[in-house]
Amino acid sequence: MITIKNESQIEKMRRAGALLHSVLEALRAEIRPGVTTMHLDQMAERLIREAGGIPSFKGFEGFPYSICASVDDQVVHGFASHDRLRKGQLLSIDCGCILDGWQSDSAFSVLVGGGSAEAQKLIDVTEECFWLGASMARAGNHLGDISHAVQAHAEAHGYGVIRDLTGHGIGQEMHEDPNVPNYGTPGRGVRLQAGMTLAIEPMISMGTWKVRVLDNDWTIVTRDGSLASHYEHTVLVTDGEPEVLSFPGAKVSEAVR
Ligand code: MG
Ligand code: MG
Repeated sequence: MITIKNESQIEKMRRAGALLHSVLEALRAEIRPGVTTMHLDQMAERLIREAGGIPSFKGFEGFPYSICASVDDQVVHGFASHDRLRKGQLLSIDCGCILDGWQSDSAFSVLVGGGSAEAQKLIDVTEECFWLGASMARAGNHLGDISHAVQAHAEAHGYGVIRDLTGHGIGQEMHEDPNVPNYGTPGRGVRLQAGMTLAIEPMISMGTWKVRVLDNDWTIVTRDGSLASHYEHTVLVTDGEPEVLSFPGAKVSEAVR
């Protein structure tokens, strides 16, 4: 069942999104060679709890950390580690929080201390895929319009669109209906309504879209070992400009110009 949020519920999701955005920006500023993802994980948990929130990933179906920290060919669900990050690694950080009972979910990717132009291009195109997808999150459009916008842009660059994992509805639960695939057909799928809230999250690889799961039963890696990038925000469907709840002030229409 797809839940439609009313204005007071949306306001709570805005507050959860603002908290999550501030946490992710703090983590982003901390990323450099020599830092461990365990440090980033502890920092995320502390910042969320200090603000009165709950780190939603920690304990979710047994996941042990407050962030997913996925390096290089790891697509998503990487475990925090005591290994020191090295210059040029592609690090994806995914995090979620609950504030006053309402959820937010967001992710970004970055090159640790800078890196190759090719890897940066993958990161940039993944972000562009998000904004193009999010720009379709308008009442009257279909879910497939979001999915197709993501897929078309990624594939135009020769990248693989991960199919085994999708975005999702979000609200009082982290994962609600509907699934939001990163591939699809325009005009197909659920018709979008104002008040739907969706986590749109392109997961894009430099090679194949095929993935496998590591022995920890969580971490997803590309089957060919190619680099993967992830970018995600929690988005409110409206009758006009979509609102990116986990990125206060961001304007979808400006991002896709
Ligand atoms: Mg996420
Ligand atoms: Mg998500």
